[in-house]
Amino acid sequence: MTDCVFCKIIAGEIPSTKVYEDDCFLAFRDLSPVASTHVLIVPKEHIESVAVLTPEKEAEGLRGIFCVAKAVAEADGIREDGFRLVVNTGQHGGQTVPHFHLHVIGGKELGWPPFAN
Ligand code: AMP
Ligand code: ZN
Repeated sequence: MTDCVFCKIIAGEIPSTKVYEDDCFLAFRDLSPVASTHVLIVPKEHIESVAVLTPEKEAEGLRGIFCVAKAVAEADGIREDGFRLVVNTGQHGGQTVPHFHLHVIGGKELGWPPFAN
């Protein structure tokens, strides 16, 4: 997708602080972190959101993403203390970048419920 900010990060056209990369995924630090660890894991294939997922897209583009989250948490030293995984979806879900991404957030005790209103 030519006009997608995360596709541009994947293509190296926009800089990012990478923390993990393999054939299927890239993980980089969020520009506006909400905790000491705030990493975004994105599939290299452009998948807009969970709302357009099919079994085929999930199998091709997202398989193994939770193990990537575990590796990111391990690398940041938060695996044992715990962390939160968030997938905002669509307008009501607060998704601002229309390229599927898994937030890995941790480094402090996080409040629940997560929404402000
Ligand atoms: P969401 O609101 O779930 O769509 O999350 C999008 C996230 O992407 C936000 O937390 C932004 O701070 C983050 N973000 C947007 N642009 C960039 C960028 N160029 N590099 C890193 N993070 C970004
Ligand atoms: Zn994209």
